[in-house]
Amino acid sequence: MTVMAQKRMRTCIGCSQQFPKEQLKRIVRTPSGSIEFDGTGRASGRGAYVCSMACLAEALKARRLQRSLKTAISQDEADAIVGHMLDAFGDDVR
Ligand SMILES: [Zn+2]
Repeated sequence: MTVMAQKRMRTCIGCSQQFPKEQLKRIVRTPSGSIEFDGTGRASGRGAYVCSMACLAEALKARRLQRSLKTAISQDEADAIVGHMLDAFGDDVR
């Protein structure tokens, strides 16, 4: 099947498992250096992926997000990303 070959797999930085790109949420370091939630999944800049809120929390706590994006993340930026992620994961979070 060619469908599988076309799936673009990405690794969640929380649990280190691979998922099809569309199942993950992307966080991007923009060319200007700020850290933002990437709702389109196509923003330019260095990206990192998480599969769930739990993995986002883990990635922030363990500083894996910071390491993956090779930058520091301010509390304000972290709060903003968590807020957007809560919206993006929607009913997955209770
Ligand atoms: Zn995960």
